[in-house]
Parts: sequence; structure tokens; C-alpha cells
Amino acid sequence: MTKIETLLTQVGTRTDEKTGAINTPIYLSTAYRHAGLGESTGYDYTRTKNPTRTVLEDEFAKLEFGDDCFACSSGMAAVHLVLSLFKSGDTILYPEDLYGGTYRLATQYETQYGIRAIFNDFSDFDVLEKQIMTEKPQALLIETPTNPLMQEIPIEKCAELAKKYDLLLIVDNTFLTPYYQRPIELGAHIVIHSGTKYIGGHNDVLAGLVVSKGAELGEKLFKQHNAIGMTLSPFDSWLLLRGLKTLHLRMKQHTLNAKEMVAFLENSPLVKDVLYAGLGGMVSFRLQSGAMIAPFLKNLQLIAFAESLGGVESFITYPTTQTHADIPEHIRIERGVDDALLRFSVGIEEAEDLLADLQQVFKTLENEVLIND
Ligand SMILES: *Cc1c(COP(=O)(O)O)cnc(C)c1O
Repeated sequence: MTKIETLLTQVGTRTDEKTGAINTPIYLSTAYRHAGLGESTGYDYTRTKNPTRTVLEDEFAKLEFGDDCFACSSGMAAVHLVLSLFKSGDTILYPEDLYGGTYRLATQYETQYGIRAIFNDFSDFDVLEKQIMTEKPQALLIETPTNPLMQEIPIEKCAELAKKYDLLLIVDNTFLTPYYQRPIELGAHIVIHSGTKYIGGHNDVLAGLVVSKGAELGEKLFKQHNAIGMTLSPFDSWLLLRGLKTLHLRMKQHTLNAKEMVAFLENSPLVKDVLYAGLGGMVSFRLQSGAMIAPFLKNLQLIAFAESLGGVESFITYPTTQTHADIPEHIRIERGVDDALLRFSVGIEEAEDLLADLQQVFKTLENEVLIND
């Protein structure tokens, strides 16, 4: 079997029979001419289907070991597309530690449409199974590792429960990407991505992807994707194709750099603890006190204080006021997203330079502490 590195590099290179173009052409046409009644090329209107988006969707479905893929205008649009499969009275179980936007949408849909959202601890599977027996959910929607606490949820164990209780298993695979983790292979039915993050990889495109297994799910999602119309533009589809070509190289470098950051942070006296899943570029850490956050962020030079992840450039995010600001304070703190927590999306710069930036910030903080004393 061709290796994933090769599949990624060659994404979309043999799709234009007419010219042999190495890159997928960007089809900006929204409409398509029919030769006669009942004679469609397969393309009628770009909301429904667009040739550039089709290449992305076909290639990405293969990378995630799914049957169908639906490219959406954002990661949240992808989450929404999946939630649109449910109806009033249905129940979805989520892990407590979850992307803030997904938490916001899930709770909003509970009040607005009666799709129940229950947030669970996914570390104890006996407790989880009891919860499934009492709440009788239709689906589990998980992220692993979780955001921002980097806890690993075993997909295989969730798949066993999903099978036993006939549940849909939905996995947000944004953090590890198909390069490191392929949930459908492990028993998931649907995979969600924010393509804005590692898939695009350059902090220049907002996108989402939904991959499904089986014809029935594919047909339902296709209908909703077209009916709601949150489809990805041809140009943005092309940007994701371009991003995919270097995904493996970027992911390897993100991991190498993240490991160096973890080693450094773990040995820094100003850091209370470090959370890392062992793969990928996402690292969270707590400073000794919440009071250190403002000067820490102020003094960053190379690393940007910014709200996103998965790009080539390093970002540090403050979940309390950024990604997780919509979670009520007491719930947020109870779940471990406290005022001293920072989330580091380690980029692919030279690790030495990233370390130098962290070192100079810590030095400034130490001096300030000394002066204040
Ligand atoms: C960013 C993110 C989303 C939402 O994606 P957008 O492209 O910002 O709409 C969903 N899930 C996870 C895990 C994310 O990191």
C-alpha cells in the first residue's frame, strides 16, 4: 500500500485528464451547461458540487479511511453539519474538556432545538457506560487529545460502547490529523476537522471537513450539506489541497519542536505543570500563578499571542479569555481550565529560536518578581 506521506504529497495531482495539470484547477464557475434534458456532467450548481471541492473531498475521504467527505466553510460549520443529523429529543454525550465553540453550539442547540447535550468525564469507562444506560444517547462526540487539557480518550473503547449500544461515534480529529490518527479505522462513523488548523496549516484559510463511513450516513450528510449550503469555496478547497501536500512534514516538525518545548517547560521553575499527549504540536502548561499571565504574554517576541492553532507559526493562546471564554467561569475552573493555563501551538520554526523566546520571557518575569519582592 502506498504510504500516507506519498498520498499526501501527490494529493490531487492526477485529476485533470484534459490538460494533465499537476495541480488541481480552481473551477470558479457556479453553474454548468447541460447538453440536453437529463444530460448532466454530474455538476449542476456549485453549492451542490464543485470540481475543485470534489477533488479535495475525494482525496480527504481516502486519507481518513472514510467513504464520503463534505468540505465546509469552517470547522464550526462542519460541527453544525453533523449536529443537523439529530432531532429534538435526541441526546449527545460529549467529553467535559471540549473545544469552546463546540461546547457553545451544543448548549445553544439544547435550548433552541432540544438536542440534549450531556458533558461527561471520559476517563472512567464504567461510569460512562452507566451514563449511557441511563441517558440513552444517540451519539458520542469526542475530541482526542482534548482541548486544552490534552487528555487522551481511547477511540477503540468508545467504538466498543458505540457498537454495544448502537450509537454514532463522532470524532473531532483536528489536533492529530489523519497523519497520526485515523478514527474511522478505529471504529468511528464520522470524523470532523477544523481545516483551518493543521490541514490548511498556514493560518490563511478557514475551513471544515466531515468524513463519514457508509452509504446511508453519506447520503444524509450530502443532503444537509447542500440544503444548508455551508460549502467550502473552490479557492479555499484548493488551499486545503495545497496544505495537505506538506502535512506529514509539518506534523513531524511540530512534534519534534513540541517535545523540545515540553522538556524546557518541565524544567522551568515558573511553570507549574505541562500537559502533552506525546504526539502533535499542541502543548498546554500552567504558570505558577494567574498573575504571571499578563506579563508573560506581553513579553513574547517571536511567538505570537493569538487565538488559533495548527499553523506553521507558533501561537500561544489564553483559553480563559479566548477559546474557552464562553464556558461559565465556575464550570471552566472546575474542569481544569484555570486562570494560569496557556495553550501553546508549537510551530515549525527552529526550536532553538522558540526556546530563546521563552527563556527571555521567563528571565523578565523573574526580574519583575525580584523587583516586586
Ligand atoms: C478550531 C476548532 C474547531 C472550529 O473550527 P473553525 O475552523 O474555527 O470554525 C473545532 N474543533 C476543534 C478541535 C478546533 O480546534
